[in-house]
Amino acid sequence: MFTIGQKVICIETAYNNTTVKGRIYTVVDINECCEVNLYLDGIIHKYSRCWCGVQLKGSPNSGRRFIPLDDYLSDNVLDKIIEQVEADELVAV
Ligand SMILES: [Zn+2]
Repeated sequence: MFTIGQKVICIETAYNNTTVKGRIYTVVDINECCEVNLYLDGIIHKYSRCWCGVQLKGSPNSGRRFIPLDDYLSDNVLDKIIEQVEADELVAV
């Protein structure tokens, strides 16, 4: 779930490279049409139409290309813990 002021990480580079995979952005506004669109601090581009044809204000970015930074970090930390536990089990066996 996205909130205004939240830090998000890009997981898929935009077709026009306005947002790049692995970079962190700040959500300044949110709009929902057929999907969640995020408005990001400092990101301005010309594409502002939902795929259904509805004109959206400003420079929306598909929410599917971003995940909240907190979720990203906790998922990665969890993966590392699981890896360590599995490695310990292998050693113990
Ligand atoms: Zn739409």
